[in-house]
Amino acid sequence: MEPPDSAIRNPQSAIDTVLAVDLGGTHARAAAVTAAGRIVARRQAPTAADAGRDAVLDRVAGAVTEAAGAVGLGPDVPVGVALPGAVDPVNGVLYFAPNLPGWRDVPVRDLLEGRLGRPVALGNDLNAAALGEWRYGAGRGTRHLVFIGVGTGVGGGVIVDGRLLLGRHGLAGELGHAVIALDGPPCHCGRRGCLEAHTSGWAIARDAQRLLDAGVPSLLPDLLAERGGELDGPLVTLAAQREDELAIEVLAGAGRALGHAAASFAHIFNPEVIAIGGGVIAAGPLLFDPLQEALAERLLNGFDRDLRVVPSALGQDAGLLGAAVLALENAERGTGNMG
Ligand SMILES: [Zn+2]
Repeated sequence: MEPPDSAIRNPQSAIDTVLAVDLGGTHARAAAVTAAGRIVARRQAPTAADAGRDAVLDRVAGAVTEAAGAVGLGPDVPVGVALPGAVDPVNGVLYFAPNLPGWRDVPVRDLLEGRLGRPVALGNDLNAAALGEWRYGAGRGTRHLVFIGVGTGVGGGVIVDGRLLLGRHGLAGELGHAVIALDGPPCHCGRRGCLEAHTSGWAIARDAQRLLDAGVPSLLPDLLAERGGELDGPLVTLAAQREDELAIEVLAGAGRALGHAAASFAHIFNPEVIAIGGGVIAAGPLLFDPLQEALAERLLNGFDRDLRVVPSALGQDAGLLGAAVLALENAERGTGNMG
């Protein structure tokens, strides 16, 4: 390992370790990450959003300080923070976050810089995951990547020419609400026909429930009785892995929807890699085979050249490693507020 103190002596030009935060609705994770993408210290705290914004930010700052202390990082080492909502990385404001009730127009960058005394860079969590996969994961060595994160919701991020696509207010890459079917099913965003309404955990559960209600035989009622809880994406995946035809058909539908969307994103961005992340990738070929088939049907001539559609390589750490990239890029630009 490189000596960590070189980053302290010369933060603008020789950063070799930075600090990263992935703030989720349930956990805040902090890490010290080398420029090569190796996590050398980790800390985690419950988000406990009910305690209020200041308490959450105090816990985030505490986790960062502990991660820094664990590997002896100095006070100037920068921090990148991935946030679960609409973030403007230029003015450092979180506009809105569905899992952080009451957080509206919060100047998170200033509030964290005040607590930490370190330069802080912000980004959306799925944009950060795109950065992480591009620099350290499924897109390593490429310059053009589309990341689609499919879990309870669907989001994404786009790297074009080696840069994260931000748009006017940092909101670009909202791939989950790309409309793939006019008059399609209702989406949680209040519109219809979005990718999320076809392929998210809740959409998969909805489709499975609809077939059960229609009397299609399935293992799902027994699995539900055995395990308790609700019908959800992971349970449908489990049933499909046990060769339940209803579950296999539902996952195939989600895969085809992703394939159609991936074709559109390929036409718009001409990427080298489309990386799919989130809980849904546990379904493996049950999702990816129909995805690849639908993609191949839809792609215009030439767009399949040098295109790979692959599962995320970083899994749960994509956002955290992408937050490290935010810190590194911020330091390289020398535009940190305090840098
Ligand atoms: Zn939507």
